[in-house]
Amino acid sequence: MVRANERWWDVPYCDACLGHAEAHERARAVNAGPANLVLGLGVGSGVLLTLSGMMCGLPGVFAPGELRNRATVAVMTVGMLVIGLGLLIGGVRWYQNLHAAAVQRQRRATKRARALASARCCGLPIAVVYEGWHGSVHTFWFANTDFAAAFARANAAKVVRP
Ligand SMILES: [Zn+2]
Repeated sequence: MVRANERWWDVPYCDACLGHAEAHERARAVNAGPANLVLGLGVGSGVLLTLSGMMCGLPGVFAPGELRNRATVAVMTVGMLVIGLGLLIGGVRWYQNLHAAAVQRQRRATKRARALASARCCGLPIAVVYEGWHGSVHTFWFANTDFAAAFARANAAKVVRP
């Protein structure tokens, strides 16, 4: 422990562990945002087009009127249904691909983080968190119980609640 400065507290940390903690952060940062966007847009526009084709187009096809007009409406309706269903199916497929790719990326990133950690590491994320202070009491969280015990022993005179 070096010194308190605002809400920061410098903690000595080993390089290798910083490596896997950063890699772990990167793995956590992988998100399925683009996949969800594709799903929302693709399915949304697909449903909209399919529904409007059925609700606006179909009645026009069977409405009384000139055969030529009804044929034009039928072609448009079929077009809307085909494109709408295409967007729907294509959107879902695209989403599945993007989602699978994101899962793959996350798995690879986690594997990289694990490869950087040693058998003696107590976990992939940063193992000590400084929560801040209240009055003169500073709060730390340690992932490693042995380290926490050693920290408590080394600071026995100051530790409030081990
Ligand atoms: Zn480590």
